Amino acid sequence: MTISERFSEVKRRADEAALRSGRDPADVRLVAVTKTHPASEINEAIAAGATDIGENRVQELLEKYEDVAPVRWHLIGHLQTNKVRQVIDKVVMIHSVDSLKLAREIDKRAAAAGIVMDILIEINSAMEETKSGIAAGELRQLVTDITSECENVRVCGIMCIPPIAADPEDSRPYFREAAGLFEDMKQWDLPAERFAPTELSMGMSGDFEVAIEEGATIVRVGSSIFGPRNYR
Ligand SMILES: *Cc1c(COP(=O)(O)O)cnc(C)c1O
Repeated sequence: MTISERFSEVKRRADEAALRSGRDPADVRLVAVTKTHPASEINEAIAAGATDIGENRVQELLEKYEDVAPVRWHLIGHLQTNKVRQVIDKVVMIHSVDSLKLAREIDKRAAAAGIVMDILIEINSAMEETKSGIAAGELRQLVTDITSECENVRVCGIMCIPPIAADPEDSRPYFREAAGLFEDMKQWDLPAERFAPTELSMGMSGDFEVAIEEGATIVRVGSSIFGPRNYR
């Protein structure tokens, strides 16, 4: 299958998952994750209808950026503070904020660029040591701190990556927990210009349909669209 065919297939499956859980397919944004794949393949996905592209690493995003058709870029991987400056004017959302320090740096660079950056807080659902993200119990304090300090950042929700599982159903409890946190968040009384919890970013190739059933508003799908990754 071509990238275009695979993209359409993933989109169809996402739409169906939304419909069978009583949701509007338009409320789920598909981010095509392109790590290790060249600009030419990203452009194929864009031609097939992809509107949103996700990259993990700043370096890789910068290498491809100029060669990719205009599109909404998302930074979805761990971000070091010293790299923020390089992506601040290139991405529409940073999914992986897990410290006040990082939020402060994003705020500073966003202010310098004259923009407000949309961010998500990354939750480490199973508290895996190999993954970044904060514990669920730390969410409220971090969001309170960010929204009280950072004028050029808007906290738009949460992102999570459950442990790798062979069966997509194994992800469901983690997605359900994240959805519960997200619902809690919507009740928090924080300044609206800095806090707009509308996005729940969860679900990858192996489990995006389950994520949509549990309320994901953004799914991040790579290998089901682009094929397996060859890490060099
Ligand atoms: C690679 C990656 C994805 C996509 O993974 P696939 O299993 O290839 O769909 C999604 N989110 C993050 C943060 C990733 O690093």
